[in-house]
Amino acid sequence: MSVRTRFAPSPTGYLHIGGARTALFNWLYARKHGGRFILRIEDTDRERSTRESVNAILEGMTWMGLDYDEGPHFQTERFPRYREVIQRLLDEGKAYRCYCTKEELEAMRQAQMARKEKPRYDGRCRHRSEPRPGVEPVIRFRNPDEGAVIIDDLVRGRVVFDNKELDDLVIARSDGTPTYNLTVVVDDLDMGLTHVLRGDDHLNNTPRQINIMRALGAEPPQYAHVPMILGEDGSRLSKRHGAVSVLEYREQGYLPEALLNYLVRLGWAHGDQEIFTVDEMTELFDIKDINKSASTFNPDKLLWLNHQYLMRAEPQHVANHLRWHLGKLGIDPAEAGPDPVAVVVAQRERCKTLREMAANSAFFYQDFEQYEEKAAKKNFKPSAVAPLQKLHEGFQSLADWEQEGLHRVVVETSETLGLKLGKVAQPLRVALAGTAISPPIDVTLYLLGREKTLNRIAAAIEYIEKNIANP
Ligand code: GLU
Repeated sequence: MSVRTRFAPSPTGYLHIGGARTALFNWLYARKHGGRFILRIEDTDRERSTRESVNAILEGMTWMGLDYDEGPHFQTERFPRYREVIQRLLDEGKAYRCYCTKEELEAMRQAQMARKEKPRYDGRCRHRSEPRPGVEPVIRFRNPDEGAVIIDDLVRGRVVFDNKELDDLVIARSDGTPTYNLTVVVDDLDMGLTHVLRGDDHLNNTPRQINIMRALGAEPPQYAHVPMILGEDGSRLSKRHGAVSVLEYREQGYLPEALLNYLVRLGWAHGDQEIFTVDEMTELFDIKDINKSASTFNPDKLLWLNHQYLMRAEPQHVANHLRWHLGKLGIDPAEAGPDPVAVVVAQRERCKTLREMAANSAFFYQDFEQYEEKAAKKNFKPSAVAPLQKLHEGFQSLADWEQEGLHRVVVETSETLGLKLGKVAQPLRVALAGTAISPPIDVTLYLLGREKTLNRIAAAIEYIEKNIANP
C-alpha cells in the first residue's frame, strides 16, 4: 500500500514551529516513500477559525516548499459526509442521543468526585429511548466497555489504553455539528491515510479515534506521536522563548531551507550531522530515528544555521530571497543598482539574516537620509576633506570601473597624502554607505558604481565643510 500522510492544522492562529515540524515530518515521510501528502484544514471550530489563519498556513507551506499532492481539503465543506457517518453509527446502535442537561452532567461530575472517582460520562442515556422535551440532544459514541486499545506507536512503542478509562465521547453537538474526534476519523479513513505523525498532545485522542474507526469496520492507520518542543526553561514552547510564526521567520530574514533544517533536527537525528539539504533529509528521514523525549528550541542555533545557509547556498538562490527583502524596503533591484547576486557574494560573510543583508545593502540602491551618528563623528573630521577630494579626482579619471583600478586609487591616495589606509578608506566608506560597515572598499565602490560614488563623495565633503567647524 503506498504511503499517504497528512498535515491537519486548525486555522485558529498562526502556523507555529510545532505545526511546521509536524508538516515537515509528514511531508518527508511521504516524499521518501514516493507516497502522497495531503493538506487538510480542520476548520470546524467556526468561532476560532479565521481566513487569515488559513492564508498564513497556505503561504507558510508554500514558502517552506512543502507542497501537497491533495487538498487543501476543508472540513467545513464535508459536513454532509460527517452527518452521514453519524447517522450510520446511530442506525447501527454504535452511537446514541444523549439528553442530559448541563446541570445533570455537573451533578454527575460532583458525585463522582465526592466518591474520588475520575469524572466521566456514565452512559446513562445509552438506554433512553424517549426524547426529553426542550432538550436538544448531543450524540455520543458508544465506547466498548471491555478490552483495551493497543497502539503500536512508531515513536513511543506499545501504548495500551483500557476501555474502562474511556467514556462515551460526544461526536455531534446539540446543534448537529460534528466534533474533532469524529471528523478526524472520517477524514483519516476517507483520505486513505496510512501514517499519522502528530504531536503527542494528541495521544489521548488516539484510542477514541481507533474505537470509532473499528466501529466503522475500518482498520486505523499507523501512528507516530512526536514529543513536544520545549523552550529553554523546560516549559512548553511559546512566543516567550523567541519562537514565532513561520511567516515571521521569513520576515526576520531566514531562508526556508535553514528553517527546515532546523526543524528536522528538532526531534530527529542522523548521527551527529547538523546540516542537511532537503534531498538529504528526504533520503535519510526515518520515523525510528525520531527522539523519544522532548526537544528544546534554541533560537541561537537557528540563527547559526541560517548564516551557514547564507554562506553555502547558491548566490543566485539567496539573491531571489534577498530581492523579496529589498522589496520590503521599497527597493526594486531590477530598476537600478547592482545585481543582487553580486551583493549576496559581497555581504554574506557578515550577515546572519536576509533582513540584515537587505538593510546593510540598501545604500547600493537608494540614497540614505543621514549618516550614522557615531560613524560620522569618528570619520568626518576636517582632515578627511583632502583624502575625499583626492579620491574623487582619482575615481573620476578612471576609464574603467573595475575593482583593481578602484583599489589602486585608494592606495595611491593614502600614499600621496602620507596617511594610513584606514584614514582614507573609513571616511570613504561612511561617505558611500552612511555607516562604518560595508563590504571591502573596492567591492563597495565597484557595486555602487561611478555615478553614486562620485555624488556621495561630493555630498560628504559638503557635509563636513558645512557641519564640522575647522579647528
Ligand atoms: N487539527 C489538529 C491540531 O491542529 C490536529 C489533528 C490531528 O493531527 O489529528 O492540533
